Amino acid sequence: MAKPGLGKRHQVIAVIVRKRAAAGEPCYLCHQPIDTRPEKDGGPPTRSRWSFSAHHIEERNNGGQTVLANYAPAHYGCNSSWGDGSTQRSKRKPWRPRKW
Ligand SMILES: [Zn+2]
Repeated sequence: MAKPGLGKRHQVIAVIVRKRAAAGEPCYLCHQPIDTRPEKDGGPPTRSRWSFSAHHIEERNNGGQTVLANYAPAHYGCNSSWGDGSTQRSKRKPWRPRKW
């Protein structure tokens, strides 16, 4: 999770965005619901495709700010930061929603 520049502010925002997802706000990218439960309670494993992540609407590389307005809930697998980063983006296959 630790990217350079992602500090305490990001952590605070991520908690808020997770609550929004838990309240029913769908993935910003694929519009499917996000299961925010901990893995031990039946949720998806941390950092798996369908787990929660806080998505930067405007990527930080493009000048996106670490402010709440620039974040939305997304699946970890839908988030652009998934995998080893931007080099893989164009090669990734689209996900298909599935039941747990
Ligand atoms: Zn998604």
